[in-house]
Amino acid sequence: MTKPIQVRNPRTGKLDYDIVPPSGNLLEQQCLGLRQAQNHWQQIGVERRIEALKQWKQAVLSQRDSLTEALVNDTGRLSISVLEIDSFLSSIDRWCKLAPELLQESEKNTAIPFIHLKQTSVPYPLVGVISPWNFPLLLSTIDTIPALIAGCAVIVKPSEIASRFVKPLMTAINAVPDLRDVLTFVEGGGETGANLLEYVDLICFTGSVATGLKVAEAAAKRFIPAFLELGGKDPAIVLSSANLELATSAILWGSVVNTGQSCLSIERIYVAESMFEEFVDKLVTKAERLKLAYPTVESGEIGPIIAERQAEIIREHLLDAIAKGAVVGCGGKVEEKNGGWWCHPTVLTQVNHSMKVMTEETFGPIMPVMPFSTVEEAINLANNVIYGLSAAIFAEEESEALAVARYIDAGAISINDAGLTALIYEGAKNSFKFSGLGGSRMGTAGLMRFLRKKAFLVKTNAVPDPWWFDS
Ligand code: NAD
Repeated sequence: MTKPIQVRNPRTGKLDYDIVPPSGNLLEQQCLGLRQAQNHWQQIGVERRIEALKQWKQAVLSQRDSLTEALVNDTGRLSISVLEIDSFLSSIDRWCKLAPELLQESEKNTAIPFIHLKQTSVPYPLVGVISPWNFPLLLSTIDTIPALIAGCAVIVKPSEIASRFVKPLMTAINAVPDLRDVLTFVEGGGETGANLLEYVDLICFTGSVATGLKVAEAAAKRFIPAFLELGGKDPAIVLSSANLELATSAILWGSVVNTGQSCLSIERIYVAESMFEEFVDKLVTKAERLKLAYPTVESGEIGPIIAERQAEIIREHLLDAIAKGAVVGCGGKVEEKNGGWWCHPTVLTQVNHSMKVMTEETFGPIMPVMPFSTVEEAINLANNVIYGLSAAIFAEEESEALAVARYIDAGAISINDAGLTALIYEGAKNSFKFSGLGGSRMGTAGLMRFLRKKAFLVKTNAVPDPWWFDS
């Protein structure tokens, strides 16, 4: 018997839920079972797999209330939990629509007239997915759905910090006969995640850089592909021609939606010095209008800080910045309310890159704003961190913004908007620097990651090849 893990409720601070991680032995057996069932899943073909996923969607819809309730208890917020379920369901629709064409075999002639090429692909048998707590449903299924459609079996290990949603989701999985033998969610912490790496053929990991490095090492030792989606410190650059009304609204949303607990949150803002004060005034005015979702989930826009350890990091970054001279325009502290941790949207000025809040991932609703005098300076500041996830550029003309975007070390750049990667699934992108490794999760490439290409090279005549010894 393994030791249960107590799960904290982010609104009350109470440890009101337990999960029991599987023993190493049980996990191994589960992986073996999934691996055995995968062959049938692959053989039934894409149309039947699509049918099974559509049934899963219906089964999830019938669990919608309990799934929403579990996600609200996991994260302390309501509207984003509803959005997570909707995005998950539309992701099933999207992949069901795209998959038949993507999985088609192709045939063609080659440069050698009597050699014909049949191009096909085979799925990795067992895919492991390890996910974080900030969007528990979305990030545990974003890779799972394309992997299943590709023909893989999948085992998912969500974060131990937000695991309540697993029960209603498993009820929906178990309602689909074709699916239940090839998909499972296991509860557990880091140890279970590390154990999982022993048994899978490919790993999709979403989480921190620190854990991502461990996962990369473990995967390298087993020589399996690792797709790593890690932390970020996304910059926004506001050029002097930008529409300030638009830029402040977009940046506020991009920084504090989900209380800033998003990998692609805007965490640093560089503004042309000619409009710096006006920008800050507008941003503060708009930030002050937002309310905490306290005492009820519907009281305001800003939910609690989900993970207690994250509240500690946000506090540490604020104290470090203030001690080094940062000025608080609004917000500015992490407060305890009835056992939960909360932080009002915070605008900081007089910031610089000696402060943690400008170079390390904060993962909270903090908006440090720094002026720049030349575009080159803004680009250098934006690139002066270990991360390279995404960014946002604001300018009057698209061409002016794009000219800057081309120099930013990041895989996805929103122009005159913020956080668009969270909404636009079509754009293939890579994570730069320490923000990740491996192929794009977005775009059709997201499905192709789960396939190994196979070429059948067919000789079409019965005469000796000119390069043979006896020709
Ligand atoms: P984390 O790295 O602490 O944990 C992520 C997952 O890894 C959890 O399920 C955890 O149990 C598991 N884990 C821990 N140790 C492990 C080990 N040794 N081997 C295998 N698995 C292990 O991250 P977190 O705090 O849950 O999530 C927040 C981080 O996730 C932030 O850095 C955020 O930027 C990042 N994130 C990135 C993306 C993206 O798409 N790039 C999306 C969301 C979150």
